Amino acid sequence: MTGFNTRLVHVPAPKDNQTGSVTVPIYKATTYEYPEIGAQVKYDYSRSGNPTRQALEDQVADLEGGKHAFAFASGMAAIHAALAIFKEGDHLIVGDQIYGGTFRLLNQFFNRWGLSITTVDTRDLAAIESAIQPNTKGIYFEPVTNPLLQVTSVEDVAKLAQQHHLTTIVDNTFLSPYLSQPLTQGADVVIQSATKYLSGHSDVSAGTVAVKDDQYAERIYFVQNALGGILSPEDSNELARGIKTLSLRMDRQMENLKAIVEFLESQSVVSKINYPGLPGYPGYESLRAQAKGAGGVLSFELNDQADPVAFVNQLNYFKLAVSLGSVESLVELPSQMSHAELSPDEQLAAGIKPGLIRLSVGIEDVEDLIADLKQALLSAQRGE
Ligand SMILES: *Cc1c(COP(=O)(O)O)cnc(C)c1O
Repeated sequence: MTGFNTRLVHVPAPKDNQTGSVTVPIYKATTYEYPEIGAQVKYDYSRSGNPTRQALEDQVADLEGGKHAFAFASGMAAIHAALAIFKEGDHLIVGDQIYGGTFRLLNQFFNRWGLSITTVDTRDLAAIESAIQPNTKGIYFEPVTNPLLQVTSVEDVAKLAQQHHLTTIVDNTFLSPYLSQPLTQGADVVIQSATKYLSGHSDVSAGTVAVKDDQYAERIYFVQNALGGILSPEDSNELARGIKTLSLRMDRQMENLKAIVEFLESQSVVSKINYPGLPGYPGYESLRAQAKGAGGVLSFELNDQADPVAFVNQLNYFKLAVSLGSVESLVELPSQMSHAELSPDEQLAAGIKPGLIRLSVGIEDVEDLIADLKQALLSAQRGE
């Protein structure tokens, strides 16, 4: 098969014979003319199908190693569509470290429609197996979790799921299709918050769902068309553009991250680093077996000799912001930002200490990023 980087740029080939345009045009039309009553047309109404969105969906399906993909107005809309294939009375097994918004969707929305869940640490296959009930229909998890970067093997979970006739749904936002393609490792449905790595520039909200099986595709398409949470033609175009540089960006992000980890390892106030991409870190072997790299996000803990709030406030190039996967570097304090909804006890149970810092590494010059970290660590040191 053609290499991934070539496919990033050339799939799908625009078929615009009228102008020879090398990119897919932004089709704004909301409705399409029928040649005559009863004619079979490819597009009739923009919610149901749009050529710009379709080109993006074809691109994502190819990169994910799937057959069909669907683009939505946010990652949450994509996750909603993937979960809406289940019905009242179904039960799901869900990773205990999944994205907070997905928990909210399950616990405060889908529960009202009769979908129940059991949370487990999906690294533990025995725990998954013992959570299976007669009405269990699927397993939903993130192969690399936020903010602790714990690694679950897609292949192992999918194998177990197949034995029990369960649907495997993977939110692969942290790795992106550049680093791993869960559909080729046994997963049935793969979600991306395309707001993150796929778009890559913090200027598009989007989500994608990719599948390899026609029956899942039919069910997801039904939800996309029935609920209408589609990605606009303009955002489809911007996302398709962002995707073309996915591997360039992620290679630089991971190269920068490696140098940042080396710097952090030399700092006495840094007591722990979470990053499965380097030998010796937990999850390294499992990650290596399923992915080309561990992505551009890491987290670390400051010991009580440094003030984490002063540290994040003092950074300049690392913008104090949630989200991840963009060209610019970001920093956040999970205990007070992304995971602030959890009580202090729940945070500690989830392994989120007050001194835990999450970095999303960008594509800047790494010397500048390290200098920024250095000055912020210095000013955050607590006096004797
Ligand atoms: C951001 C994120 C989401 C939600 O995506 P939105 O585009 O913000 O709706 C879902 N899963 C993961 C892992 C995320 O990081």
